[in-house]
Amino acid sequence: MALIVSKFGGSSVASIEKIKSIALRVKEMRKQGDNVVVVVSAMGDTTDDLIKLAKGTGNELCYREMDMLLATGEQQSAALLALTLKNMGCDAISLTGWQAGINSDAAHSKAKISGIDNQRIIKEIETGNVVVIAGFQGISPQGDITTLGRGGSDTSAVALAASLEAERCMIFTDVDGVFTADPRIVAEAQKLSQVSYEEMLELASLGAVVLQPRAAEFAMLYNVDVEVRSSFNSHPGTIITEVGNMEKQRIVTGVAHDLNCAKFALFDVPDQPGIAKSLFKALAENDINVDMVIQSAMRDNRNDIAFTIWKSDLPKALPVVRELVDKISASGMSCGEDVAKVSIVGAGMQSNPGVAAAMFEALADEGINIHMISTSEIKVSCIIDESEIETAVRALHKKFELDKME
Ligand code: ASP
Ligand code: MG
Repeated sequence: MALIVSKFGGSSVASIEKIKSIALRVKEMRKQGDNVVVVVSAMGDTTDDLIKLAKGTGNELCYREMDMLLATGEQQSAALLALTLKNMGCDAISLTGWQAGINSDAAHSKAKISGIDNQRIIKEIETGNVVVIAGFQGISPQGDITTLGRGGSDTSAVALAASLEAERCMIFTDVDGVFTADPRIVAEAQKLSQVSYEEMLELASLGAVVLQPRAAEFAMLYNVDVEVRSSFNSHPGTIITEVGNMEKQRIVTGVAHDLNCAKFALFDVPDQPGIAKSLFKALAENDINVDMVIQSAMRDNRNDIAFTIWKSDLPKALPVVRELVDKISASGMSCGEDVAKVSIVGAGMQSNPGVAAAMFEALADEGINIHMISTSEIKVSCIIDESEIETAVRALHKKFELDKME
């Protein structure tokens, strides 16, 4: 008997009708003789609604309490799905993250799974239950409820699949799979039949919202094959797997974009050892992820340092950076929210020079100014004005002929 971990995202459990239809799908898998562990997100926009509600208190930056609140969203959908399954004659039980043994660190609002104590899940599977687990949540070493960052149910599912040595992890969502670009922006975007872990990790981290980056990381680390597919039809989705399992390496696989960017620049920072350390240590201590960093050439023993963070971290970052400007005696700072990141990703890029140049050319042809650039072996990213992001995505999709991708 195979074990399948299936995850259903918020849009797939948005109403009782939808919950009924996924319950039928789950019951069918069970009928085929498979053991099924289901991970669910909160219904529809529940998480956003809960955040809005908390904003009313004026204290939505108290992350421990926010986690307590947000975790209730997934508990609702888990219980509703278990109720529906039982009503259809399919034995089921719902478990919260902590009942399922999902341990995490204590970084509230973006906790990382540290391990899964899966005995309870195994016991429930052995009694013949479909185990429905609330995604997106864990329990800290202190025994507090944590959440795993927006979109975190994907990570719950992949981590559970790894821990239970599941045969497959299926991520059911509202799109047909992973596309060469966001189909809402590029009409010609193609669904990819396969992507490598590395490419998926880059695509997800760079803003392709089909899978949480941590989930891609887990899949790669534990070699879990993941299929991203639609919960609204039965078309095959995109398989995320090892490069070796793929037929050919493409130079550019996809164009990703990310609007959740903000840019800081610090002016006339003294050029001496320890400065970068104080700056980035202070940000890290406040759980602020720094993405790109650029330090300009030195003049008069001073230079400028620019970096990007998530726009959503801006309220937290502003006071930290302001304090640092004084401490390291920089002459000033600027901060911009109207930037976005566009990236090209492809495993074949590493052996093909000229890819970055082609990207810059495509942007230049559209008159788009590049503020910052960063590269890795399999991606090139540019920070540009937010208002130009759609033009940039379309231009790059065309330049690399991604409409001809299979
Ligand atoms: N409900 C959470 C969110 O909206 C987690 C998830 O959907 O995976 O971010
Ligand atoms: Mg969601």
